[in-house]
Amino acid sequence: MIANYHAHTYRCGHAEGNERDYAEKAVQAGLRTLGISDHTPYDFFDAGPRDRPMRMKPEELPEYADSVRALAEEYRGKLDILLGLEAEYYPKYFPRLLELLRDAGIQYIILGQHFLNNEVDGQYCGTPSPEAAALERYVSQSREAMETGLYTYFAHPDLFRFTGDEAVYDREMRKLCRTAGETGTPLEINLLGIRDGRHYPSRTRRARKKRSGWRSAWGWRS
Ligand SMILES: [Zn+2]
Ligand SMILES: [Zn+2]
Repeated sequence: MIANYHAHTYRCGHAEGNERDYAEKAVQAGLRTLGISDHTPYDFFDAGPRDRPMRMKPEELPEYADSVRALAEEYRGKLDILLGLEAEYYPKYFPRLLELLRDAGIQYIILGQHFLNNEVDGQYCGTPSPEAAALERYVSQSREAMETGLYTYFAHPDLFRFTGDEAVYDREMRKLCRTAGETGTPLEINLLGIRDGRHYPSRTRRARKKRSGWRSAWGWRS
């Protein structure tokens, strides 16, 4: 697969570079397709402005879309550039999200479920937690997200950092995988997670033992 569909620009506040920098590197690396999928703006209309270093503001979306489209035109024949977004599924704000994105001409949306419930009144998914109920909530929210049909694939599905009972993790992640299969949603192996030695991609202890060769071949620090 000579493609990368998961790339964020400076607009999200925690990445560096712009879409042109990515395009140049993609050409140098021999990629055929580059998808720019910055974090979606979200309109938390009843919660006031959210000044987190996480995403562009709703009013910045047209400039982002125009800029990526112009670049796609410029690179035509050399590199296929797609206009995407990474978006959480927050049930309470979902209709508002669809409204916000409706006329933006976004070509694909990847699911990144960074918060349980939502980021106004929920918790971050990457913080270690032994709570089975929180994992169950993550999995049911993610399954519901896949069932909306909005999302092209699921980024870092193993972002939830569960430290509790392995059997519970196994059971819940199987549910997640089953829904991914039923809805035809590919699951991402996150290369930033591998490069940075983050807690994802993760394997169960049992699987890790069996596949230790794979693990060392990838230089995976855990
Ligand atoms: Zn991302
Ligand atoms: Zn993400």
